[in-house]
Amino acid sequence: MGQVDQTSVPTKIVVIGNGMAAGRAMEELFAKQRPPLQVTVFGAEPRVNYNRIMLSPVLSGEKTFEQIIIHDEAWYAKHCVRLRSGQPIVAIDRKAKTVVTSGGDQVPYDKLVIATGSQPFVIPVPGANLEGVVTFRDLDDVEKMHAAAATGGNAVVIGGGLLGLEAAAGLALKGMKVSVVHLMPTLMERQLDPSAGYLLEKAISERGIDVYTKANTEAILGSDRVTGVKLKDGAILPADLVVMAVGIRPNFGLGKAAGLDCNRGIVVDDWLRTSDPDIFALGECVEHRGQCYGLVAPLYEMAKVLASELAGEKPSGFVPAVTSAKLKVTGIDLFSAGDFSDDDENNEIVLRDPARGIYKRVVIHDNKIIGAVLYGDTEDGGWYFDLLKKGEDVGAIRDTLIFGQAYQGGSPLDPTAAVAALPDDAEICGCNGVSKGSIVAAITSGGLATLEDLRAKTKASASCGQCTGKVELLLAATLGESYESSGRKPMCKCTDLTHEEVRRLIKTKPLKSQPAVMQELGWKTSGGCPSCQPALNYYLLCDWPLEYKDDYQARFINERVHANIQKDGTFSVVPRMWGGVTSAAELRAIADVVDQFKIPMVKVTGGQRIDLLGVKKQDLPAVWAQLIANGLMSGFAYGKSLRTIKTCVGSEFCRFGTQDSTGLGIKLEKLMCGAWTPAKLKLAVSGCPRNCAESTVKDIGVICVDSGYDLHIAGAAGLHVKATDLLGHVDSEEEALEYIAAVAQKYREEANYLDRLYKWVEKTGLEHVRRAIMEDHDNRKALYERFLLSQRVARKDPWAERVAGRDLHEFMPLAVISRIAAE
Ligand SMILES: Cc1cc2nc3c(=O)[nH]c(=O)nc-3n(C[C@H](O)[C@H](O)[C@H](O)COP(=O)(O)OP(=O)(O)OC[C@H]3O[C@@H](n4cnc5c(N)ncnc54)[C@H](O)[C@@H]3O)c2cc1C
Ligand code: SF4
Repeated sequence: MGQVDQTSVPTKIVVIGNGMAAGRAMEELFAKQRPPLQVTVFGAEPRVNYNRIMLSPVLSGEKTFEQIIIHDEAWYAKHCVRLRSGQPIVAIDRKAKTVVTSGGDQVPYDKLVIATGSQPFVIPVPGANLEGVVTFRDLDDVEKMHAAAATGGNAVVIGGGLLGLEAAAGLALKGMKVSVVHLMPTLMERQLDPSAGYLLEKAISERGIDVYTKANTEAILGSDRVTGVKLKDGAILPADLVVMAVGIRPNFGLGKAAGLDCNRGIVVDDWLRTSDPDIFALGECVEHRGQCYGLVAPLYEMAKVLASELAGEKPSGFVPAVTSAKLKVTGIDLFSAGDFSDDDENNEIVLRDPARGIYKRVVIHDNKIIGAVLYGDTEDGGWYFDLLKKGEDVGAIRDTLIFGQAYQGGSPLDPTAAVAALPDDAEICGCNGVSKGSIVAAITSGGLATLEDLRAKTKASASCGQCTGKVELLLAATLGESYESSGRKPMCKCTDLTHEEVRRLIKTKPLKSQPAVMQELGWKTSGGCPSCQPALNYYLLCDWPLEYKDDYQARFINERVHANIQKDGTFSVVPRMWGGVTSAAELRAIADVVDQFKIPMVKVTGGQRIDLLGVKKQDLPAVWAQLIANGLMSGFAYGKSLRTIKTCVGSEFCRFGTQDSTGLGIKLEKLMCGAWTPAKLKLAVSGCPRNCAESTVKDIGVICVDSGYDLHIAGAAGLHVKATDLLGHVDSEEEALEYIAAVAQKYREEANYLDRLYKWVEKTGLEHVRRAIMEDHDNRKALYERFLLSQRVARKDPWAERVAGRDLHEFMPLAVISRIAAE
């Protein structure tokens, strides 16, 4: 970070616009040696700077807003930046060198930076200003679309370009019936040739989205809110929501009103200077050498130049680079760069694989690549793009060029070797313009060894994330065996997706069966493996409790037979004892079972239950039948589920007891019994801070106090020993029940399969849980409701089901080998 000379007067820098270009310029500036600065940023949006590119996954539900924040409040504080969000600038007084806020404040500047981005273009048809017509530019637009999608209905997206298709796919995932209206004969015609456009249209239609090409919008229908879209050919498409995604216009009104030279945007020179020497501009609001931009890569180049300029360096000027385009719709792979227009001077190499939906076209002029369009397999996009930007002569590799980088030199390269073979200046991250050389330098001289550190330092893969795989391969190629891919671990060998990604896609797509998950998410095996099957079974069960039917074959042996297998092949049986309380009748029934089935060991467990050890597998149904006949049921001591709730005697009997801890434990166990969880879940309730039930080493623990109940979470007392963290305090037993069930539900919905609760809290942070449970009243209630809904189907006794005949074959010996048969 740059040093600040405290003795001189800081230069006042005012930045108008808190978007991607301005944010990157500040980052670059703060990383430099620089004179003292006082930076004030005005943002029209009421929030911190976020990754606008990633609004599409936020719309589809694949990411949350929090996940796309670039600079949080702490970042502004750390760099002493005054952020005035939600305060648009309405005028610039160049004479007085001040800007005027919408609230009338006049704020002086020494240097002014304008980074006001673009405005979505709204086609001026009748009805364009009706309620229900939205654009797709910022989070407010996404929230409007989410609100419309909440009630389902029809959406019409006008515009079949990159933005329109991302909006359409997102709304379809949110459950709306979507139509895309596009003026041109094929989709994304600016980035794709007709063949790729055809494949794209097919893929979009397969998602249930109706595509109307060569369709001209005549009017938007409705009296106070939108009801439909009328096309020029007379067709009427019903619509509850219309999204205009027909292009953007540089937002340069402020500059123009202040008398700066403007054309299609604010005119800047190579150093981002406007016609006023104290005013700079960058981003989508500018025009540079007659060109305006709509993708981030060139804007980030502008940010570098501007930061050098403001730091008093003498930068070489901004040089616009060729850009490439990708569509951020899960499951659709396309890449395009350069010029692919039909021209007699050009020649082309085309590869089509109709069965796999692959189309590749490389356009060559004078032995140099001038354009590339890839559909279905975009692995080599970066390689072609690199050859294109450098103007490399591809004459010598022309014959094998279309097969991609791996096939150059005769034999195919493995992916790590292919990335290692790239030249240092090959671009790895298109969004942030990060080359292979700078990534390798950050690893070797910067000592970075994880994806997260590399992202934070170089920004590689930090925007749309599509180059994550390549960045990881570079880590692996550079660090060799010492690289532990800790950041992003695929779920198992059947998929490259992480647990988090699979969970998210199960919800958003939505996928409701194991075959659907494997098919839609491109599993590499036909039916999964012992590692992903139980995880998928759990995720589906958790997300679709009413629709998904438990696949007990996908479970581990203990859960299949509802008992814990022991080292000698016998089983242990633990009946449920609510809150650890039992009775003479229950004890008598247990004693009878022990005698009748000659059970060799009876043991009291650490969780205050009775364990019958050494039961033969074939005796299990009969043992259960007898226990059930005496009012006992399965204690789930074998499951990734609620196990036990340990209690102390509490105020009923103990002179220190402040509340009825046993009573609360019983109520909790009755509320939560049968709930499947990512890993085993153990609770305890202690009647006072003396903590006799050891509540502070449980997944969830309650300590009763005079004023109510202290709720603790994330303890452990197994392989790892960890005291709980205090989640908060509630006053009543009803609240304790609701809050604890809500915590359990949040854990169920968010944790990776097999992660104990403390691991989940370690990953997501205690604050995340505290906010959701203790502060966000509506969210907690909704979690509680979802828990109750799931319990409607989950709260049953699997022993009783088996005794009634379900899957009894599990307990039959494969064959009875008698002496006669053996002879
Ligand atoms: C949904 C979506 C998906 C995209 N996907 C991609 C992609 O995949 N790849 C890619 O390269 N690009 C993509 N883009 C484009 C990319 O986001 C933009 O190129 C980039 O955000 C432009 O940066 P900017 O700083 O110029 O403008 P912005 O990021 O728009 O920031 C400008 C900011 O200035 C604020 N502002 C405007 N007027 C005022 C005022 N008077 N006072 C104060 N503040 C003001 C605005 O509210 C805004 O917050 C996408 C854009 C969208 C909307
Ligand atoms: S925790 Fe308190 S109330 Fe419970 S048994 Fe121990 S001393 Fe008694």
